[in-house]
Amino acid sequence: MGFEQRLRASLTQRQEQGLYRQRLTLDSAQGPVVRMQGRDYLNFCSNDYLGLAAHPRLVESFQRAAAQYGVGSGASHLVCGHSRPHHELEEALAEMTGRPRALLFSSGYAANTGTLTSLLQPGDNVFQDRLNHASLLDGGLHSGARFRRFAHNDVADLDAKLAAVEGSGLVVVDGVFSMDGDSAPLGELAALCRRQDAWLMVDDAHGFGVMGESGAGSVQAAGMGIKEVPVLMATLGKALGTGGAFVAGDDYLIEGLIQQARNYIYTTALAPALAAATLTSLAILREEAWRRNHLVTLIQRFRDGANQLGLPLMASNSAIQPLKVGDATQATAMSQTLRERGLLIGAIRPPTVPSGTSRLRITLSAAHSPQQVDRLLEELALCQKQSI
Ligand SMILES: *Cc1c(COP(=O)(O)O)cnc(C)c1O
Repeated sequence: MGFEQRLRASLTQRQEQGLYRQRLTLDSAQGPVVRMQGRDYLNFCSNDYLGLAAHPRLVESFQRAAAQYGVGSGASHLVCGHSRPHHELEEALAEMTGRPRALLFSSGYAANTGTLTSLLQPGDNVFQDRLNHASLLDGGLHSGARFRRFAHNDVADLDAKLAAVEGSGLVVVDGVFSMDGDSAPLGELAALCRRQDAWLMVDDAHGFGVMGESGAGSVQAAGMGIKEVPVLMATLGKALGTGGAFVAGDDYLIEGLIQQARNYIYTTALAPALAAATLTSLAILREEAWRRNHLVTLIQRFRDGANQLGLPLMASNSAIQPLKVGDATQATAMSQTLRERGLLIGAIRPPTVPSGTSRLRITLSAAHSPQQVDRLLEELALCQKQSI
């Protein structure tokens, strides 16, 4: 079959199965309210958990750094693209996560695939939670290591799988699972890794900035450090409101990545101004603990209200509060109805989630007001009544 025919066939099939993906085009900055084609929408699908993406202080530091360092970084980090703001951000991230070093990547996808393909070799074993982010799965598959998935958050299943292999083992989990919102049992996983002599890597894309006493993430919230979790990765495009990602750990881990990670070496460095803006995000995290506290209040408010309405909540304490729908076409229809009513909520369907578990992925932000959460609940109740 020719390329054109094959592409057309697969597009038709996606359409028929309710799996066709379409982009929205926003005419405004991120925020609790966004604008599209002249209409305002209440936004419950962004990962801007702390409301920082369009914060005036971030915009100002971005502009100031752009005036000094220009817009493009000009080259990869190892050629001449590594500038002072990048370096200072790496030092600040290392300090915040209580680790000797941190290394910036252009995206979380690159950080995960680069780290796993550098760390792992044929003959090693990598164990991944079934619900890990696609970038972790891809990195593990490309690494050449033996690849095993274990049942979601099932420490006993992982234990049995670890016991059955020889050679070095790396266990990889999301700190907070991106489509379910629940957390990995980091304490139990770390204890198991210690017993089985395996390394633990945590992708904290959805915990960093939000979880933990100072916002240092899921590992901090679990009272653990570099000994229990030697490889910590997190992204900067979610709670921190900017973009890019980092890996933090010991000096030999970071130097190893600088020498070997192809996704680090062969790509242009982030814009220096983005690094400068991220330094401001870190300052706001330190100064404004109210953002994390307010988010926790909103999460509780949403869960209490949804429980009263009998909505199909999932077991999540994070800003990600999915409502299970099941059928992909129905999830898409509900998302569409809510959009017509002025609310943006993404329908998440296979292959992002297992078949039969399509859902509305609701995300809350510290920028939302309690009234906006109440409006969300009212609309969901209405939507539920119509779909019965
Ligand atoms: C978003 C996300 C990534 C990818 O990060 P990007 O910076 O968007 O490439 C990786 N892991 C998890 C768990 C994520 O949610």
